[in-house]
Amino acid sequence: MPTHNPGFATLAVHAGAQPDPTTGARATPIYQTTSFVFENADHAAALFGLQQFGNIYTRIMNPTQAVLEERVAALEGGTAALAVASGHAAQMLIFHTIMQPGDNFVAARKLYGGSINQFGHAFKNFGWEVRWADPADPASFESQIDERTKGIFIESLANPGGTFVDIAAIAEVSQRHGLPLIVDNTMASPYLLRPLEHGADIVVHSLTKFLGGHGNSMGGMIVDGGTFDWSASGKYPMLSEPRPEYAGVELHKTFGNIAFAIACRVLGLRDLGPAISPFNAFMIQTGIETLPLRMQRHCDNALAVAKWLKDQEKVAWVSYSGLEDDPNHALQQRYSPKGAGAVFTFGLKGGYEAGKAFVEGLQMFSHLANIGDTRSLVIHPASTTHRQLSEEQQVAAGAGPDVVRLSIGIEDEADIIADLAQSLAKL
Ligand SMILES: *Cc1c(COP(=O)(O)O)cnc(C)c1O
Repeated sequence: MPTHNPGFATLAVHAGAQPDPTTGARATPIYQTTSFVFENADHAAALFGLQQFGNIYTRIMNPTQAVLEERVAALEGGTAALAVASGHAAQMLIFHTIMQPGDNFVAARKLYGGSINQFGHAFKNFGWEVRWADPADPASFESQIDERTKGIFIESLANPGGTFVDIAAIAEVSQRHGLPLIVDNTMASPYLLRPLEHGADIVVHSLTKFLGGHGNSMGGMIVDGGTFDWSASGKYPMLSEPRPEYAGVELHKTFGNIAFAIACRVLGLRDLGPAISPFNAFMIQTGIETLPLRMQRHCDNALAVAKWLKDQEKVAWVSYSGLEDDPNHALQQRYSPKGAGAVFTFGLKGGYEAGKAFVEGLQMFSHLANIGDTRSLVIHPASTTHRQLSEEQQVAAGAGPDVVRLSIGIEDEADIIADLAQSLAKL
C-alpha cells in the first residue's frame, strides 16, 4: 500500500492486509482454527492479562477477522474496530458496554425493523429502556435525556424509507449532554458517508448488507471513533473503573482512544460470545474490495429506477432522496453527494393488496428480507419485516400498508426496469 494518504478505493483493497508471512499467500487466508499456541508460559500470561495483544481463542480474536476489522476501521476513519457475528450482535455488545440495568438510551424511531424489536423487547429483559425520538427533530432527542441516559442511536440513512438524517445536528445534542452518538451506517456504507466526520462517536454496521455485498454471509462491526471521553462523567464504569475480570485494569486509562473497541472485545465478546466465523470474515473482506464500484452502481441504478417509477400511472408516490423534488434531497446532497443509496420505498395506488400482488408478479427481483445484495430485492414491509409493529408504528417507521421497499442491485438498469414494468402492467 502507498505510504502517502491512500484513497478510499485503495484502502478497500489493501487496508489491514499483507501477504501471509509464512506462506506468501496474497489473499488473506481463512485461519480456520479455534485456538493459537502460546510461545511460552510468560507469553500466555501476558495475553490473558491484556499486557500484550495476540491471538488466544477465536471467540475473542482471529487473524482473518483482524484484517476485516482494520479494513473497516480504515474505511470509516476510526481508531479500531471489532467484528462480530451479525449487526444485531454488534448492537448488543455496544449497549452491553455502556448500559447498566435501569439505564436508558434515546433512539430514532425510523430504524431497521429488527432494531426496533431488539431495542423495544429483547433489551427490556436486561433492564435497558429505549426512548423513541423523531430523527428529523433533534430537540425530540434532547427532551428525553435524563441522568440515566447513556447514549443516542440513529441510522445515517434510515431504513426502510432511505432518508438521510442530519447527523451533525444530533451530534450537537449528544455532545452537549456528554453522551456518545452511535450511528448505524449499514445502508450508506462508508463509501457514501462517514459518520465519524460529522460528530458520531461509534459506528455500527450490519456487514451482512452492502459491505459483504453478495448476500452470502452474516457479520457485524463496531467502529470506535476514538474521540469520546469515557472517564469524564463516571457514567461508564465498564470503561472507567478497575475491572475485576482483568486484575483491576482500567480500560479507558490503559487503552485510550481504542478503549471502547477493546471493552467490546474483552468484556462483551469474550463473555457473551457472538464471534464471527473466519470463513464469513473472509467472504466479507473479499466483498469490501469492490465496495466503491458496487455502491456507485447501486446508486446509479436506483436513481434511474426511482425516476422511472415516478412517471408510472399506477404509482402513487416515490420516496427517494436522490430525486430533486424529494423533501430529503438537500440532506442527501450535503451528506452523501455521490449517491442516495440503493434502498427506497414507493406506494402503489392500489394500496395493501396491489403491493402484495406487485411483489408476487416480479420475476428477476427476489422477494426476501434483505438489502444490499448484488441482486435486486423487493419486500412488502407491512406484512413481513415490520409486521410485529402496530399500524401506527409502521407508518411512523415509514413502512405503512401500501409501502413497497426495493433494494436495487447491480444488474443492467434496463433489465431492472423491464421487470418492474411487466409486474406493474399485470396489476
Ligand atoms: C440488517 C440490519 C441490521 C441487523 O444486522 P444483522 O446482520 O441482520 O444482524 C441492523 N441495522 C440495519 C440498518 C440493517 O439493515
